[in-house]
Amino acid sequence: MDFEIQAHPSPLGDEARHEILSNPGFGDHFTDHMVTIDWTADLDAQAAAVASGDFLNIQGHWHNARLEPFGPISMSPASAVLHYGQEIFEGLKAYRHADGSIWTFRPEANAARLNRSARRLALPQLPEEAFLEAIRLLVAHDHQWVPDGDGESLYLRPFMIATEEFLGVRPSRTVSFRVIASPAGNYFGGELKPVSIWVSRDYARAGVGGTGVAKCGGNYAASLAPQLEAAARGHAQVLFLDPLHDNSIEELGGMNVFFVFADGRLVTPELTGTILEGVTRSSVLQIARDHGHTVEERRITLDEWKTGVASGEITEVFACGTAAVITPIGAVQDGEEIIESPAGDHAATLKIRKELLDLQTGRGEDRHQWMHRL
Ligand code: PMP
Repeated sequence: MDFEIQAHPSPLGDEARHEILSNPGFGDHFTDHMVTIDWTADLDAQAAAVASGDFLNIQGHWHNARLEPFGPISMSPASAVLHYGQEIFEGLKAYRHADGSIWTFRPEANAARLNRSARRLALPQLPEEAFLEAIRLLVAHDHQWVPDGDGESLYLRPFMIATEEFLGVRPSRTVSFRVIASPAGNYFGGELKPVSIWVSRDYARAGVGGTGVAKCGGNYAASLAPQLEAAARGHAQVLFLDPLHDNSIEELGGMNVFFVFADGRLVTPELTGTILEGVTRSSVLQIARDHGHTVEERRITLDEWKTGVASGEITEVFACGTAAVITPIGAVQDGEEIIESPAGDHAATLKIRKELLDLQTGRGEDRHQWMHRL
């Protein structure tokens, strides 16, 4: 795909950028450019796809690929995304290594997940090469925005929105894929400390057959009320359960969950279609296998968590995701009951975390060819 380049000199001076990069926070500041690719449906090809039985293979063509200055986007107030939430997104990071080179971690896994989300939200498939090239172009033009501090990175946010000016409820016939970028510090701020979480009993983020498996904006809108409840009770994150399966653990608002057992087993909720398949989750499973842990992807209930901690069978609990990497869970509150994670040094959690961070920041051996140079 050929991209038109409409680059501009940074509207912020070097000094203002250095000021931002000295304390980037998360999601507050954006780089100088964005990448856009537009898409238009091909209704004849779509009819043929339906006739062949694959009605979710949305047909059309990508065009107007461009890099342009970051700024407001203009669209009709009747655009489908504004009314029916036909939107998906991704999140991944670019890391600066000691020699100045810039790398991403398993970007093809994000490209593949975007396309899985696209099928669920009746959006078109984006070729993996276009996803990777969009990221490469943006980082090439905005490389000065990639921080080099410990735990810092440039957070990349690819997303796809339904732009058609039409109020009927059907898949949009025009779509835009975009990538923006934002320098990121440590997600929970400062040094690594265990987080406490709140069990959401009144709200779910996903149900069987719903969109929990997809990374779409609506899931996150649904998580805001329980997140407010958690914050009001003094917790950093919400834990979602599956009440139809004995309150088995699903995930946090933006992270997957792992349990370390005393016998060395690592357990994480299986992919039942209602939780997001984290890139970090699958990497942790691989690293744990490399370390000789037995890994189990299965349902694990809140009761098993409580009894496992009480009996000493469960020794560590941690959350993982791109933004927060790997963070020990210190305590979980269910109603008035508080389950403290076992006191300890989080040795297994921190070992996996170190291996992942070393790899991402260029200090570790890339056994699985996960790093991708931009
Ligand atoms: N679950 C949810 C609901 C998330 O939003 C995320 C963040 N994308 C994750 C899990 C972790 O996914 P990843 O490791 O790919 O960041």
